[in-house]
Amino acid sequence: MKIIKLKLHWQILIALILSVFFGYFVPDGVKYVAWMGDIFLRALKMVIIPLIFSSIISGVTSMGEGKNLGRLGLKTLTYYLGTSTLAIVTGLFVVNIVKPGIGVEMGFTQSVEGLAENAGSVKDIFYRLIPDNVVDAMAQGSILSVIFFAVIFGFFITKVEGKYKDSLTTFFDAIFEVMMKITLFIIKFTPFGIFGIVAREVARNSDQLASIAGSLAIYSLCVFVALMIHAFVSLPLIVRFIGKARPFAHMKNMITPLLTAFSTSSSSATLPLTMDALENNSGVSNKISSFTLPLGATINMDGTALYECIAAMFIAQVYGVELSIAQQALVVVTALLASIGAAGIPMAGLVMITVVLTAVGLPLEGIGLILAVDRILDMIRTSVNVWSDSCGAVTIARSENEETSVAI
Ligand code: ASP
Repeated sequence: MKIIKLKLHWQILIALILSVFFGYFVPDGVKYVAWMGDIFLRALKMVIIPLIFSSIISGVTSMGEGKNLGRLGLKTLTYYLGTSTLAIVTGLFVVNIVKPGIGVEMGFTQSVEGLAENAGSVKDIFYRLIPDNVVDAMAQGSILSVIFFAVIFGFFITKVEGKYKDSLTTFFDAIFEVMMKITLFIIKFTPFGIFGIVAREVARNSDQLASIAGSLAIYSLCVFVALMIHAFVSLPLIVRFIGKARPFAHMKNMITPLLTAFSTSSSSATLPLTMDALENNSGVSNKISSFTLPLGATINMDGTALYECIAAMFIAQVYGVELSIAQQALVVVTALLASIGAAGIPMAGLVMITVVLTAVGLPLEGIGLILAVDRILDMIRTSVNVWSDSCGAVTIARSENEETSVAI
């Protein structure tokens, strides 16, 4: 008998829908399924550091000369900063037109104790790049430092003379192959993991979501609309005209990581799936994806950047603070920095808003206004973060004249 096998993204979609019903109608049953989500996330976290490390080294060594690395680095950073700024400007535009915070009663502020201490300053973000202890950085999962060390390590492998260069290159290529195999194995369990994660979140948040006040709904809608403009208009235009690739064919290839980003609210946890989909579905080479994606998952967060901007503007409107053009420009710059500094984990963006609020002198308590809807917005902005990383990888691959399966 032939068993009908659904494609993975269909399985995930079904799991997602079932989990919403399950979490909403059987909240007491969640404790029996939540473990699937925990184990899935643990398994993904287990592969992240060795995957990133081996993949970057194998990518950098395959680039050969340092000149290639520099060119690729420059293109990648230009794309990341460019699209994040575009996202922020889109958010600024929408929030200035709709003005969701004007005339809001401040009765529903929640406590935000402890949030401020978690946010890193801009200086910290740069400091974090260079680990004072590589092993510790790996143990702590500080991805930015691991990327930095891996790039340096890979670069200097290419500078080693004689036979060691080849053996080291082969060694890290081999490790990367193994890590990819483990990742593919874990990915098969995504529907179960997502069921566990989403059922628990729905059960936890369903009361809160039902009681969202009107203005908060409008604020959420602003974030949603701006995110959709960025995801379905701006980024596809970039892929189409700069990348000379088919954006929606690429989007179809990325469904599994996009749904996983949505369910886990974590770009970092989604990274193994993003790499797999980009290489195996959209046909981007390991050379490009291994360099751009881990970096992108950490510093390129278009969705988060856009969200920081709208959230800060909303808080300003609620407190009746008129922000001048110069102050709004400051919001744009700090939102960009905050998105770069935000870790690829759930609700990191919420914590980083303190950076923006402090810069323009708004009260940190304002964060309490938007706490209730953060979880759902986090899901959507994380998908946009991952989508932008993947569009970047395709665009850069095409600009390096790679064929890919989505080329025009
Ligand atoms: N959860 C987001 C991510 O992992 C970061 C954020 O909170 O905005 O991409």
